[in-house]
Amino acid sequence: MIPELNELANLVSGFPGIGQKSATRIAFHLLKQSDRYINNLIDTIAKFHKNMQFCPECGALKNRELGCELCSDARDHSILCVVEQPSDAFTIEISGDYHGIYHVLMGCLSPLDGIGPNDIRLKELEARIRNKDIVKEIVVATNPSLEGNATANYIAEEFKNISGLKISRIAMGLAIGSQLEFSDSKIISQSIKNRTLILEGN
Ligand SMILES: [Zn+2]
Repeated sequence: MIPELNELANLVSGFPGIGQKSATRIAFHLLKQSDRYINNLIDTIAKFHKNMQFCPECGALKNRELGCELCSDARDHSILCVVEQPSDAFTIEISGDYHGIYHVLMGCLSPLDGIGPNDIRLKELEARIRNKDIVKEIVVATNPSLEGNATANYIAEEFKNISGLKISRIAMGLAIGSQLEFSDSKIISQSIKNRTLILEGN
């Protein structure tokens, strides 16, 4: 193969969901674009990478210079939605009906892949809930997959002794094995509204 093509295709094939074949197609696509477009793309990527970070509190995407909108006082801090990835918080925000705060785990429990409780942000979640005593309900919105469900069960089990804390799971209008990120806004909105209680706070 042509080394220049190879080099770009290899970089692009590291993107989520992009295989070697698609990466090669993208490389050819880029070659056909104007200088102006390519420069704009390079600048935008560099700016995004420089200016954005994951919020140290909730784990969602925020501008480095600004406070986190999803952690702001304008939100309802009594309800906290637990998601796997920053992009999931973004997806739920787009659905428009949720006004509580978030906690991004940065993954989910997956013993087969060697991912245990210490490998995702579960300790941070517990600290947030115990320290503040403001959160009254956790809505677990991990993906409706085997691992997502196992993570929800683990959270319910670990946190059952925190007094006054309700734990619920988003309704499974979402197909088993589907990913939040690719689900319709209306379905997500409904699945939060119709969430089921898995632990009644005592
Ligand atoms: Zn935040």
